[in-house]
Amino acid sequence: MSKFDIDPGAPWPPRDYLLPDLGFGTRAVHAGQPPEPRTGAVMVPIYQTSTYAQPGVGDHLGYEYARTGNPTRTALETCLASLEHATHGVCFSSGCAATSMMCHTLRPGDHVVSSDDVYGGTWRLFTSIFEPLGIGFTFVDMTDHDAVRAAVRPSTKMLWVETPTNPLLKIVDIAAMANIAHAGGARCVVDNTFATPYFQSPLRLGADAVVHSTTKYIGGHSDVVGGAVLTSDDDLANRLFTLQNSMGAMPGPQDCFLQLRGLKTLHLRMRQHAASAGALADWLSDHAEVDAVIYPGLPGHPQHAIAASQMRGFGGMVSFELRGSLARAEAFVAATRVFTLAESLGGVESLIEVPAAMTHASVPPAVRKKIGIADGLIRLSVGVEELVDLKSDLTAAFEETR
Ligand SMILES: *Cc1c(COP(=O)(O)O)cnc(C)c1O
Repeated sequence: MSKFDIDPGAPWPPRDYLLPDLGFGTRAVHAGQPPEPRTGAVMVPIYQTSTYAQPGVGDHLGYEYARTGNPTRTALETCLASLEHATHGVCFSSGCAATSMMCHTLRPGDHVVSSDDVYGGTWRLFTSIFEPLGIGFTFVDMTDHDAVRAAVRPSTKMLWVETPTNPLLKIVDIAAMANIAHAGGARCVVDNTFATPYFQSPLRLGADAVVHSTTKYIGGHSDVVGGAVLTSDDDLANRLFTLQNSMGAMPGPQDCFLQLRGLKTLHLRMRQHAASAGALADWLSDHAEVDAVIYPGLPGHPQHAIAASQMRGFGGMVSFELRGSLARAEAFVAATRVFTLAESLGGVESLIEVPAAMTHASVPPAVRKKIGIADGLIRLSVGVEELVDLKSDLTAAFEETR
């Protein structure tokens, strides 16, 4: 499809501008975003409007009301669909809203088998919002395939897979989960937030839908909250568009613009995130003050082989166990200057946190211990600053807390 081969009377941007024959970085820059036909604007305008003029009653240009549709949102949905090798993209106001909408495709009595160390907000949504509405959830260690098979019931409609997980960076075999789901007549849904479509393509491995918190690497600059579901399943996509319009948890046009802007450099950022994270993981592995390093790219990672076969890179998150107490871990993360002490991840700036005291503080200590979140565990979201500065920042923190 040529850039100027676009019918000016047809809804813009076209949802089929997926550019499947082009490489990842080219799609990240162009998919869903041919120049705007009326003015030639190269960047997708922010359509800050709630409604659209109609030429006549019952006649419109593809857009009637902005909860139902907005061209900036369409561009983002199409670009994300393209990057995930999907035919449909449906965007929401946050990752949690995207997860909620997936749950709203279910009925009371339906059952979900979920990874046991899903994102905390996902766990809260499943157990405190959807379980009381009559949807059943079983949480299992998805590295144990027999346990997953045993958890599937006749009423199981969805397998919820998160890989790599947070903060232990456990890797789940997506193709195996898709097979188990399909054998039981269920859908396999993968939260691909940590790997991003640059490093992992769940739909190509057999999954039915991909969920993202675009707040993280896709936005990439820690300046927007968003979520998305990408799928090639027409029935599921239609249901999600109905939910988006009916429940109204859609993103605004400014937020879609920021995510589109972030996407244009996703491939460049992910290469740097992974290069620096890998280098820091190697360096920390040899550090006398570190008891363990968790990074899927390390040969000693328990699921390194699966990571190497289903991912094209190992991502930008590194966790490590600092020798000593929780108090030392807390002092360590407060001592860094380049790494910012904060929750969240995936931005250009490096972040550092102590899961036991921050993101996973609500998990009871005994459960934390059982699943492997040590008091001294420190999680890094490795940004795109100079590696030498990241290393000397951590070196200073090691020395200051000795
Ligand atoms: C942050 C996150 C979510 C939730 O997304 P929000 O945009 O914060 O609502 C879901 N899954 C994972 C893996 C996340 O990191």
